Amino acid sequence: MKIVFWGVRGSIPTPGPDTVEFGGNTSCVEVRCGQHVLIFDGGTGLRLLGNQLLKEMPLEAHIFFSHVHWDHIQGFPFFIPAFVRGNVIHLYGGLNVSRTLEETLAGQMDFPSFPVHLTEMGAKLTFNDLAEGQELRIEGDVRITNARGNHPNGVYAYRVDYNGKSVVYATDTEHYSIVDPKLKRLCQDCDVLIYDAMYTPEEYAGQTGSGPKTGWGHSTFVDAVALAKAANVKKLVLHHHDPMQTDADMREKERRCQQIFPNSIADREGMVIEV
Ligand SMILES: [Zn+2]
Ligand SMILES: [Zn+2]
Repeated sequence: MKIVFWGVRGSIPTPGPDTVEFGGNTSCVEVRCGQHVLIFDGGTGLRLLGNQLLKEMPLEAHIFFSHVHWDHIQGFPFFIPAFVRGNVIHLYGGLNVSRTLEETLAGQMDFPSFPVHLTEMGAKLTFNDLAEGQELRIEGDVRITNARGNHPNGVYAYRVDYNGKSVVYATDTEHYSIVDPKLKRLCQDCDVLIYDAMYTPEEYAGQTGSGPKTGWGHSTFVDAVALAKAANVKKLVLHHHDPMQTDADMREKERRCQQIFPNSIADREGMVIEV
């Protein structure tokens, strides 16, 4: 499996001189399982991935949305392969909001907010609303399972198993007082865990920044390590970085995390992990 990070930021894109090292695009992670193209979230990083995928037409791709907050869907109207006839894009999301995934993706492209409607995109789009715990197979050899996390309006974490290796993508979730038992089960013995580590413990507690973040549906790197250790995860990737964090802040967050879990790294745009 090959994992490529196209967008690593949470909440809102953060271009500028303070974020050039880690990048400012919102969540989008590509996971290649042999020739199968899997994409996790459609933040603004999806636009860059789409430009790259234009070299692989005709394309069949599978996009899994953790949830439909703006920072996870706002790249989709700029995903050029979805406008190209002959491509097939399968879209998946959790049954956790009041509208279906199709209604939500169409909603962000409604007049007058966007000039082109979802129904005018040229590729064949399939919409798949997933139930919690539902197992999915792509041509038999890729297995995708999910678990619900803790986030306002709901969120799904996904696990991909392929060829004896496994990757979990779990963003926008919060642990509260204990390691989330559902996520622990989903992550058990996985090779790579990509996890929401938006805050430092000081930011989460409100000792620095704009006040406490309890109940906002995000975690700290200490929560990430607790889950990684509890589930016997091999490699931890800190994801969904707070827009307030500069490159220097991110390096410090990564350094502190590595002190308590050596095989960890903060994701950066363009980073590649092979397992
Ligand atoms: Zn988010
Ligand atoms: Zn969110």
